[in-house]
Amino acid sequence: MNFHVMTLFPELISTCMNESITGRAIRAGLISVDPVNIRDYTLDKHRNVDDYPFGGGAGMLMMADPVYRCYTAVLEKIGENSRVRTLYMSPEGKTFTQADARSLSEEDDLIFLCGHYEGIDARVLEEIRPEEYSIGDYVLTGGELPAIVMMDAISRLVPGVLNNPISSELESHSHGLLEYPQYTRPREWHGKEVPEVLLSGDHRRIKEWCLNKAIEVTRQKRPDMYEQYMSNEDR
Ligand code: SAM
Repeated sequence: MNFHVMTLFPELISTCMNESITGRAIRAGLISVDPVNIRDYTLDKHRNVDDYPFGGGAGMLMMADPVYRCYTAVLEKIGENSRVRTLYMSPEGKTFTQADARSLSEEDDLIFLCGHYEGIDARVLEEIRPEEYSIGDYVLTGGELPAIVMMDAISRLVPGVLNNPISSELESHSHGLLEYPQYTRPREWHGKEVPEVLLSGDHRRIKEWCLNKAIEVTRQKRPDMYEQYMSNEDR
């Protein structure tokens, strides 16, 4: 999986992605992260990438041309034989879900376009026609954090990135339920015992307990997900 991130803040992307599990995956060659500085594609001698919006309005807008020139350079670098999708980080986009992460993890290359200031000149978006993704109903200063959030979630689903892939199959949102509560050593802490069944070694009982707890937690914390899970005909 190759991530190409079109941004005005490439160091923000590298700093975050080079840490922890994603950092290990990069060093192991399982994923690659290529932050591309949109500012390198401006023809302006002052390296300006933004200007005032026509018709007035608060703030500045990213200009179409540097974004487009950057995009075509990234496409050229990727080449024609790759399965590639282009994603624009936008508060107007579809809310990113675990199902999206799974589908995107099956591509070869993903291009992330990060807006900044008040966004991007609409004409270049019409030309590129990216898929628009939001990470929630709030407005951030830029698309870099959403891109990092999405790349993190996608990377975990790339084969080999997690030491134990089973952990991504059983965790929250992967099968319509939240995760069951988990415990580690010591067996007793502040007078609270680890549930006996988890120490029993009886895998059938443990599996049953985990499913029942996952259903209970989902019912309490996310009644909307619980309703949907219970209304599934196969249940
Ligand atoms: N003027 C825009 C609006 O009202 O929709 C907001 C622009 S925002 C300040 C600047 C950039 O941050 C956007 O172009 C987008 O790339 C990114 N961004 C902000 N909030 C986001 C969110 N919730 N999800 C994804 N991207 C977001």
